[in-house]
Amino acid sequence: MTEAPAATIVSAEEAEQQRRGLMLVLSSPSGAGKSTIARLLLDKEDNLELSISVTTRPRRSSEVDGVHYKFLDPKRFEQMREHDELLEWAEVHGNYYATPRGPVEEAIESGRDILFDIDIQGTYQLYDKMRSDVVSVFILPPSIAEMKSRLFRRAEDADEIIAKRMKTAVGEMRHWSEYDYVVVNDDLERAYENVRAILRAERLKQFRSPKIGPLIQGMVDDLEMELRD
Ligand code: 5GP
Repeated sequence: MTEAPAATIVSAEEAEQQRRGLMLVLSSPSGAGKSTIARLLLDKEDNLELSISVTTRPRRSSEVDGVHYKFLDPKRFEQMREHDELLEWAEVHGNYYATPRGPVEEAIESGRDILFDIDIQGTYQLYDKMRSDVVSVFILPPSIAEMKSRLFRRAEDADEIIAKRMKTAVGEMRHWSEYDYVVVNDDLERAYENVRAILRAERLKQFRSPKIGPLIQGMVDDLEMELRD
């Protein structure tokens, strides 16, 4: 028997390094537990970072500028929009929110994955611009009653704001079928594990690693040659 050919095997690490980053969009109505799932993912997953949105909304006391959002005045927001510095933007509850373009493009070209906490309006804009890079997950609360009670438990917002959010939430839930995946958050650990499984599988989609095809083909060709000898 002839000796094994020189190794042209593609290592998993090599495949990872060749890969284009993906854009993991998590959307949900307020009170579905999306932020908790996002935090767990960011803590536990290597190679996943948060896209820090800009917003004109006032900062909540628990938020840090530059960590949760970059808080801007409307004039600066307008400038960014005019200079095409925003990948997507939307008005939500009377405030503007947007994703700055530069950091996202830089990350995915370097093979880093980005997590987005954006609404349906923003998700549609990302679909239009970069559909194949986007993996979208809609997180649903187990019931409306549970969603209400989660919103009321978050004491930071005034009652009228909570009422406005409830209305928006119902509107947003109508769009659940336009997401790639739907995860019901009736059990936090299970919902988180499901989103993590989605991320892992999506990372392995072969079109995200265009350079890996010729490597695999070379390996198959070598083996075929060897068998012919
Ligand atoms: P909150 O004010 O509670 O932080 O966010 C309100 C809504 O705005 C949430 O649904 C959140 O997903 C959405 N949002 C936050 N950042 C962005 C963004 O950059 N773009 C879009 N389109 N929506 C955002």
